[in-house]
Amino acid sequence: MGNFSRALGIGFILNSCVAMANDKLIRWTGTEDQDATLKHVVEKLSQKLGRPISQQDFLLEDDRDLAFNHYQRWVQVLDHVPIHGKSIRIWKELNSEKAIQVEAALQSPSLLNRTLEPIESVRSTLSSEKTVALAREMILANSEDPHFMGLEWKDEWIHGELVRVVKIRGKRGYHFVFIDFRQGKVISHKYREFPQVDPPTDDEGLSIPVQVYPIYEEAEEREQTLPRISAELRHIKRQIPIVEGDFYAPLKTKQYFDFNFDPTLGDTEAGRAQGHWSMSYLKGQAAKIRSELPQTQNDWSKGVLLQGQFATINIHPDAIPKFNPGFQIRASTAFFPNWIETSHDGKPAQEMIPSHAFAGKPLQFPNEAWDRPAHRLPDHNPAQYLNDGFDEIQVYYAINTLFENLQARGFKDPELSTRPFNAFLFNPDIASRNNAFYTDDTINFTTYSPHEKNYARDNSTIWHELGHGVMDRLMGDSIELADTGGLSEGMADFVAALVIQSVTQGKPFPGSKKFRIINKTGFYLTNEVHDDGEAYGGAMKDFMDAVIGAHAENGLNQVADIVLETMRLTRDFPGLNASDWFDHLLFADSLGRPGLRQPGELKPFLLTALAERNFKLGEGSVAEFHLVNLATHQEIESESPGSRNAPILVRIPKDGKAHFDLSVQVKSSQHFSFHYPLQIRVEYKGGPLQGALHWTGKEKEAQTYLLNSEADQASIPLEVSGTCDEINRADGSCVDFAYIQVWNSGETERPAAKKRFYLQVKNP
Ligand SMILES: [Zn+2]
Repeated sequence: MGNFSRALGIGFILNSCVAMANDKLIRWTGTEDQDATLKHVVEKLSQKLGRPISQQDFLLEDDRDLAFNHYQRWVQVLDHVPIHGKSIRIWKELNSEKAIQVEAALQSPSLLNRTLEPIESVRSTLSSEKTVALAREMILANSEDPHFMGLEWKDEWIHGELVRVVKIRGKRGYHFVFIDFRQGKVISHKYREFPQVDPPTDDEGLSIPVQVYPIYEEAEEREQTLPRISAELRHIKRQIPIVEGDFYAPLKTKQYFDFNFDPTLGDTEAGRAQGHWSMSYLKGQAAKIRSELPQTQNDWSKGVLLQGQFATINIHPDAIPKFNPGFQIRASTAFFPNWIETSHDGKPAQEMIPSHAFAGKPLQFPNEAWDRPAHRLPDHNPAQYLNDGFDEIQVYYAINTLFENLQARGFKDPELSTRPFNAFLFNPDIASRNNAFYTDDTINFTTYSPHEKNYARDNSTIWHELGHGVMDRLMGDSIELADTGGLSEGMADFVAALVIQSVTQGKPFPGSKKFRIINKTGFYLTNEVHDDGEAYGGAMKDFMDAVIGAHAENGLNQVADIVLETMRLTRDFPGLNASDWFDHLLFADSLGRPGLRQPGELKPFLLTALAERNFKLGEGSVAEFHLVNLATHQEIESESPGSRNAPILVRIPKDGKAHFDLSVQVKSSQHFSFHYPLQIRVEYKGGPLQGALHWTGKEKEAQTYLLNSEADQASIPLEVSGTCDEINRADGSCVDFAYIQVWNSGETERPAAKKRFYLQVKNP
């Protein structure tokens, strides 16, 4: 099952399920009770809960050594079906039964809505075909991302009901469709964008000297390129598989239609005999094919391919026919499930073709690698970049650099710290333009508009995306983030900041003051995942800067160690919010690390950083920022109409206009004060990926309003035109937001609070 949930990442979206009434997290530490055997833990929990539970109620889903402790996750099951988010998690000392931390979130079976029918007959009411049909109908009606590029599902008890959770991969994110067994219908649908932007050997591998950008090609605004430095591409494999022809052809003796997909039956021989299939089975078969391929030298005689221990470089299959590279094309072995739209028995269907990607331009001889041109082309011409072959060098370097700098600071977890990230470059899909995203051990690059950055040459973005990967690995498959999930964005930024700090030793460089992580954003004062992430990232960056200020280079080692350890200690946490995160950070601090940090040494630095961020550990109120759509009197929160996840659809002709009125009001708390007169700024461009909509007044400076006191309220009229400035959706529409920011009196650098208001403009 580990496999399934890795791909599922469902935790990020089910946060509402976390807070069932009787559902308090039970937690103790090794100081309170040392015995970490399951038998003892279950007995102790029975006592604490006042009802008997037994070892048979749990299934071991994760059992692994982490860098400094051993971790087990026992999932609570009823009738063999996992109860969503319910488990016992045990961290113990390596090679002993001595507890470090035990956490349990359990559910009383009496709260589950069971029928007298046997569970298997209930589950059989929802066939694979019906599951796929229901999910497909939901996705194809979705205007944000009506694409179908892979699916998975699992059955769980959620909110007491037996539910099938179907996860469909689209082009830009994942759809989650929840089907209730009793009702036999879809009860909800959610959409989440991808977080954007081989066994290890002792052999060090090949090293090749190259010139790369230490941080990025160009700083924020202008197209002025920065100098490159000399560096080495390390850990390149000396032996790689020989790939000739269609080596995944053995997988193509069958057709893989969506309606035959079944993650459970497809994993069994009997199920496959009935025509079912599963992705985990196919991935396993693909790995087997790869392992049986004959090996060849990866050397200058045929040209070196960037297939390394920590990184593999691949060209997206669609880029080959589209950009027609002038070098000899060789297949790469990375498995690429290629979903196509087709038909079966006259009905529309999706079919998965087992495919591979391609290798980049072979490095022909040492000087060729060194001299690869890194022209910044005015139009970011992808065909030329592909032929120049520089982007692949930069991406390989960036991935290796992240591993090297984190491994040197305690990222030593078996397998998790050595498994490679596979990069796919030049995805030509227009809907994915100007993007880089992480999913499922891969980092993906697209093509770029003339005035945007080329993310394949931007280590800060690459390290952010890989930061998601590091978190995925350390925080586990079943982690659930509460709030907007901003912790994930903020900590991805923080992983990038750690690597940048390590690479530059804190020396400034062009644009170094402009990173999103350098901000004054408070907790609870945003409505979008990246903005919410600023509060997390900003607080953590303040914390890091303070520790480095006091302890220099050793401070960086201390901070990296405590943050990675906190990720381990929050592994699979059900509903992790800011308080839980910082509580566990303090717990990691209290454990200390012999030779590196004393128990409790970093606590004062953290508390100081949090005091500036509208954050309170424990009880107490927080400051508020209200943004309301006056037409509906609805607050624009992270899931409501007008949010990133639910833009308001505006259907008007090209020459039409639509009006909206918003109101803004703020409220200070005992611990966090706004400074009056406050300036409210409305910005239409300059934000991340902003600029597709044509707002009235967009060409002018930001619109501003003043609030003189807490009783004041600003009314903000907005008007949008039916003509998009840039089409950024495949259906010819455009999606964009107005940025409403709260600036304290006298503040010139960064706002304290900000919210976004999203529209999608489509012509009838
Ligand atoms: Zn991200």
